[in-house]
Amino acid sequence: MNEQAEEQTERKAPLPPWLRVRYSGGKERLAMRKLLERAKLHTVCESAKCPNLCDCWQRRTATFMILGNNCSRNCKFCAVEHGRPEPVDPAEPGHVAEAVNALKLRYAVITCVTRDDLPDGGAAHMAATVNAIRSRNPETKVEVLCSDYQEQHSAIDCVLAAGPVVFGHNLETVARLTPLIRSHADYQRSLRVLRYAAEQAPTGTLVKSGLMLGLGETAAEIRQALADLRAADVRMVTMGQYLQPSKDNWPVARIITPDEFKQWADIAENDFGFQKAVCGPLVRSSYLAEEAYNG
Ligand code: SF4
Repeated sequence: MNEQAEEQTERKAPLPPWLRVRYSGGKERLAMRKLLERAKLHTVCESAKCPNLCDCWQRRTATFMILGNNCSRNCKFCAVEHGRPEPVDPAEPGHVAEAVNALKLRYAVITCVTRDDLPDGGAAHMAATVNAIRSRNPETKVEVLCSDYQEQHSAIDCVLAAGPVVFGHNLETVARLTPLIRSHADYQRSLRVLRYAAEQAPTGTLVKSGLMLGLGETAAEIRQALADLRAADVRMVTMGQYLQPSKDNWPVARIITPDEFKQWADIAENDFGFQKAVCGPLVRSSYLAEEAYNG
């Protein structure tokens, strides 16, 4: 059996217990879906087929995905649809703000599809969304998870000026795998975006990034990515198990045990000095984001 066939076999094996999610909270999920439909909003929870959807929606929390449901890139790990991006809806920031209000969120996480077709990558729309949330919900803190904006400093400045408490941009994977897995992205460029955000961020704004494990990276490569993130002054990091969202996506190379994730959290915080490392099989950058921020 060749290496790829072995990987395929492993991928098709039943998931270990720690990756099996229980479907629950049907009533809450229905209520959330109705709210989203009424407001014409998308969530990365649904669009990226997040395994935590039942858990998060049952707790009446979700991560809003703005700027449409079609990404202008096509990363191999990602389930979000790609293709011709939709026109930007100027009413969307207000709708997100109302949804945050309806859900009584004290902490809102906003992400977006990548919009390479827009001159500012959608940064002004992201900033407008942060501002709308805070003006409708003055007590709510906002975390943003942004694209690389093709390293346009003006776009990063624009988002930071809106005052999110966390500016996130995911490195996603190690340097060697980046050109194979991420589309139109560059490992060093992502690091420069994070470094610039950390330099420009007002006091109190944390810069955060995330890695998926199980894509075929080695332990040495993970350590290098952690070192690179700290060198860019990233303070918070998340690490979770990559799960193949469909047969067309990149295959899972390895299942990481919960104990190994605990070790990575310990390494990230104690060896590399991250203020907070949230690591676990089902951790996603927005999973329990409020708890991680307060934490
Ligand atoms: S972890 Fe994030 S993306 Fe996944 S369901 Fe929860 S809020 Fe949504």
